[in-house]
Amino acid sequence: WVDVRRDHGKLIFLDIRDESGVVQVVVSPKSDAAYATVQEVRPEWVVSVAGAVQERPDNMKNPDADNGDIEMSVEKIEVLNPSQTPPFPLDTEGSEIGEEVRLQYRYLDLRRKRMQRNIRLRSQFVQAIRAFLFENNFVEIETPLLTQATPEGARDFIVPSRLHQGSFFALPQSPQQYKQLLMVGGFEKYFQIARCLRDEDLRADRAFEHTQIDMEMSFVSEEDVRSFDEAMITTVYEAMGCTIKQKPFPIFSYAQAMEQFGADKFDVRTQEEKESGVLAFAWVVDFPFFEKNKQGEWTFTHNPFSLPKREYLDDLNQRKNLQNIISHQYDLVCNGYEIGSGSVRTHDPDILKQVFTILGYNEEQIQQEFQHILTAFSFGAPPHGGIAHGIERLLMLLAQEEYLREVQAFPQTSSGKTSIMNAPSRLPDQQLQELGISAIKQDNNAPPSP
Ligand code: ASP
Repeated sequence: WVDVRRDHGKLIFLDIRDESGVVQVVVSPKSDAAYATVQEVRPEWVVSVAGAVQERPDNMKNPDADNGDIEMSVEKIEVLNPSQTPPFPLDTEGSEIGEEVRLQYRYLDLRRKRMQRNIRLRSQFVQAIRAFLFENNFVEIETPLLTQATPEGARDFIVPSRLHQGSFFALPQSPQQYKQLLMVGGFEKYFQIARCLRDEDLRADRAFEHTQIDMEMSFVSEEDVRSFDEAMITTVYEAMGCTIKQKPFPIFSYAQAMEQFGADKFDVRTQEEKESGVLAFAWVVDFPFFEKNKQGEWTFTHNPFSLPKREYLDDLNQRKNLQNIISHQYDLVCNGYEIGSGSVRTHDPDILKQVFTILGYNEEQIQQEFQHILTAFSFGAPPHGGIAHGIERLLMLLAQEEYLREVQAFPQTSSGKTSIMNAPSRLPDQQLQELGISAIKQDNNAPPSP
């Protein structure tokens, strides 16, 4: 790509860019054909150049530039593809550009240094996580995307079934139940770099789609999961050059955190540590299992599959003292974000059933929505527990970014649309018919499907 073009009257200089860096090339009127071609060439055109690479004269060397001590004297230049003038500058950080237009032309936006750095950082980070987990004998296993709803506290995205009309799949909010079923299936250490889809209100650190490092282990205690996870987080962040404020990570009970910070996610860095990019991790443990929702019904605070602490099992069975039941649930927080969440799970079908009863499910609903896992747990399910980390939030810490979209290649816009492509879009009547559905409301501003 032509990064910059400088016309110095006789000589024309181009800075040529690819993923390995930038180099200056110079075209002189002496090479006729090349000189004629380069008259047309503009920034972001794709060219191929041939010529001799030579050391620049001493007074022309630029120690601050990529390859600043050499240049190529061009003999041949071929235009592989011209480019329209980009709709926004590509040599800035990009923060000054409106989100809509940035995401409409995301493929151009991705050419900027900051995005190149962030997306490559993400790839390296995931590679380091995978390496750590493989070294520790974890097995990477994919779980279905077309599945049944599993409660994670958000709305589901649903997919109509053509073969079973009037029936719908849900896209997974997390692989929660499948990873537990893998424990029943004898895979004692599972992980997945898992896509999670949640139809919730979008925020700076929240999107419809995010990716989790999802893990589950059999025959583990709460401390086992936390200390293994802490070793992974510490190893990977330190390998990437980060400084961690305190090791082992401090542990706060939920009650302590609420008293000290008024919230279950908090930032314990000093001003100076904030400026120097230090990471302050902390565990929050001993979460209450249940709370009342606005309608006064019992709901789970974190994860309905968590195990209540042993001393509360009688309370659970007798449905008393519910607001005080503490579970084996833990969150990892860092610099004010919740960056991981997990628990030791219930593997006893009777306890799990009792939890769903408290959550207001009747016998028939339990049967319909959870019988599969209750049945699975009746076949020698091992004790197990796990954790999941939102990769985007982990990356935001690493790249010191405040918006999730800066670490995703193709994020949604804040109004809930795709980058570049026109989704969500209306479907033709014929396609709806084939699926056995009809829309009762149409957003007439929505684009028709291609
Ligand atoms: N499935 C949980 C979540 O997505 C994490 C876990 O408990 O492993 O928040």
